[in-house]
Amino acid sequence: MLKTLREYIKEAEEKKIAIGHFNISNIEAFHGIYNAAQKLNVPVIIGVSEGEEEFVGRDEISAIIKEVRERDNYPIFLNADHHYSFESVKDALLAGYDAAIIDAVKLPLEENILLTKKCVEYAKELGGKEGRDILIEAELGFIGQSSKLLEEIPEGVSEKTMTTQDDAKYFVEQTGIDLIAPSVGNIHGMVKGGNPKLDIKRIKKIREACGVPLVLHGGSGISDQDFQDAIDAGISIVHINTEIRVAYKEALEKYLKENPNEIAPYKILKPAVDAIEKVVEQRLKLFNKIK
Ligand SMILES: [Zn+2]
Repeated sequence: MLKTLREYIKEAEEKKIAIGHFNISNIEAFHGIYNAAQKLNVPVIIGVSEGEEEFVGRDEISAIIKEVRERDNYPIFLNADHHYSFESVKDALLAGYDAAIIDAVKLPLEENILLTKKCVEYAKELGGKEGRDILIEAELGFIGQSSKLLEEIPEGVSEKTMTTQDDAKYFVEQTGIDLIAPSVGNIHGMVKGGNPKLDIKRIKKIREACGVPLVLHGGSGISDQDFQDAIDAGISIVHINTEIRVAYKEALEKYLKENPNEIAPYKILKPAVDAIEKVVEQRLKLFNKIK
């Protein structure tokens, strides 16, 4: 019998490792990620943002994850990454997602708290009805918005927008969220000249103050040492998206250039699946402390 996602997160925290969370827009990326996870035999979370979800299909991806988890008795979970309204969180949870991130960072704090709390209450109610343990996560502090290649650190991200331990504690108490994604020097996307360094001390303080596991968003472009230190300091889930997108695009471009007459999608896209698998395998090794 598989454990719940909450139990895997708790186990990760005890072992001082982190669970990898990887985003997909299509089934090819799912295969690359799942191949890598299975090779290492570690739990894994598939994430879809609102845009990714619309493209891959909300019910379709949920059905695939559920089917594969049951067929292989494998700890693979599905997360609604950065959903911006109660309705979109609700739709994802109704479709069978294991977790959701309500992102109301742009709202004034009190409105953010109300909306987040509404999602937490709905997840509890639905989970109770369906016998599922559904997790709700929220982000606190600004870390930029898109998973792309950036010329520089996004505007509005600075030490001032980093999460404080007091803010995190207050937010968790007020909302009852299961997981929190703080701003600790991380950013969404990858900066061409290199990503900023993480504030490891801040991670430790936030984890101690807020009492729930921490999720590191914007993992692409962070150095191996920073990842290790962040995980040791209290990060239990790491999000990677941009690196996968880059690997996919580069492999696809290379193949098309070298094979201009090939038209079979399963041949054209195979190198992209392999490239994603490679990136994910390296990241999972690091997060799970596998040599
Ligand atoms: Zn994020």
